[in-house]
Amino acid sequence: MARAQPVIVWFRDDLRLSDHPALHDAASRGAPVVGLYIRDDESRALMPPAVRPLGGATRWWLAQSLRALRKSCDAIGGTLVLRTGPAASVIATLARDINASAVFWNDIAQAPHRAVGRDVEAALATDGIASQIFAGDLLVDPKVIRNKDNRALRVFTPFWRRVQGLGDPPKPLPAPRKLTSVSGIASEAVDDWDLEPTRPDWAGGLRESWTPGEAAAHDRLKTFLDESISGYAGDRDRPDRDGTSRLSPHLRFGEISPRQVWHAARFAAAEHPRLAGDIDKFLSELGWREFCRHLLFDVPDLADRNLQEQFDAFPWKRNALFLKAWQRGLTGYPIVDAGMRELWRSGVMHNRVRMVVASFLVKHLLIDWRSGEEWFWDTLVDADAGSNPANWQWVAGSGADAAPYFRVFNPILQGEKFDPDGAYVRRWVPELARLPNDIIHQPWTATPIELASAGIELGTTYPAPIVDHKKGRERALAAYTKIRRKE
Ligand code: FAD
Repeated sequence: MARAQPVIVWFRDDLRLSDHPALHDAASRGAPVVGLYIRDDESRALMPPAVRPLGGATRWWLAQSLRALRKSCDAIGGTLVLRTGPAASVIATLARDINASAVFWNDIAQAPHRAVGRDVEAALATDGIASQIFAGDLLVDPKVIRNKDNRALRVFTPFWRRVQGLGDPPKPLPAPRKLTSVSGIASEAVDDWDLEPTRPDWAGGLRESWTPGEAAAHDRLKTFLDESISGYAGDRDRPDRDGTSRLSPHLRFGEISPRQVWHAARFAAAEHPRLAGDIDKFLSELGWREFCRHLLFDVPDLADRNLQEQFDAFPWKRNALFLKAWQRGLTGYPIVDAGMRELWRSGVMHNRVRMVVASFLVKHLLIDWRSGEEWFWDTLVDADAGSNPANWQWVAGSGADAAPYFRVFNPILQGEKFDPDGAYVRRWVPELARLPNDIIHQPWTATPIELASAGIELGTTYPAPIVDHKKGRERALAAYTKIRRKE
């Protein structure tokens, strides 16, 4: 009997086996399945807007996630092949070599990914090989939620109401129990892809903080829903507590799908009705991810262009020294410095603190939000093409549904309110650990005796503030007034 022709499943930002529509369909046909991941640094150069090259922290995550995916594929008899090159020619060559009947993949609703996908389809069509594209990256197709001008909604609340109005998304699909594979296909090795830092190896903090991969993503979700969801609506703003899910990098790489998260959360709410408020809040955060992605669908150059054009005339300041002080967590504002050091060490930063440090860069230092966005892109393990620029623009005031520019976060009050005992600062800025709670967010107000007994020499062991809060705030408001006048 003739052997069935294999189907290739092309993995991208969907490094999982469960709720993977392309894999599910391929496996259910009973044909051999060959998983493929492509390191493609070339397609993106061919057409603007380009797929954004990964930053350092996401490259590290990708290496771990691919290893985990390969293990899971092996465990059910499948294969994951790694290749380098432009996706269209890599896929067409492999498809010809193994006599594949078709290539399946999940859509990524982003212009550059779709452009690469179209090239792949065209290359396969010339060889008479079918391609099939599935949805699975978002809760809702961005084409479904439009305003009357056929654009993505720019305000979150009505957007989220519309998403909820559509009811539950489809139930997640199970992972295939078994795959039939094709042996003897050459594959490159993750180790040879140079994704992880060696000299210097700065990834120690990432290894300590994270276990990438699908199994770990589901463990995190379960632990969060079992142990931490109660009180989420309030605790999610507290960087000193373990109050959020920490699912963002897993979602970023598609190790878990948003509809798996949605259904697990809804199930928890049905079992424990007292958690309904916390779960609604949690799902609305997932809604922000969706909102940012829908915006990106309409605005592929979201990381480059102010959504509100009057910001093109904003008098940003170039100040390499201040930018460096911010990146290194040496601004003299404890909550800002704690956040920036948490980011550098662990690859994430608490959401509340992301807002504070972003506001500080853009408003107190008047540095263009794009410089901060780029730094986050390189250092976050959850760096996301939608969420990162959309949130930066939100904080800067240049974006959709943005915080008004005149709302300047006060880093002292933010610290005192959300890290009242200074536990977060003590963890990430240990040189301040011995300061009493009431001055830990403003060490420059400490008396010489207080500083001496905490072992601090201001300006030597810890910096004095690089900008005075009040003056920084006034300068920011003056700069904003200039662009408002030009409107
Ligand atoms: P939880 O509170 O458990 O939320 C659950 C999920 O909802 C998150 O995993 C995430 O997928 C989503 N989510 C939560 N808040 C937001 C938000 N404001 N915008 C979009 N999605 C959200 N998030 C990223 O995933 N990638 C980024 O590159 C990113 N850059 C940011 C930059 C700035 C300046 C700011 C202010 C926020 C940014 N965020 C980004 C959003 C948010 O900070 C993180 O998603 C959150 O801290 C992740 O922690 P968690 O998984 O424990 O969140």
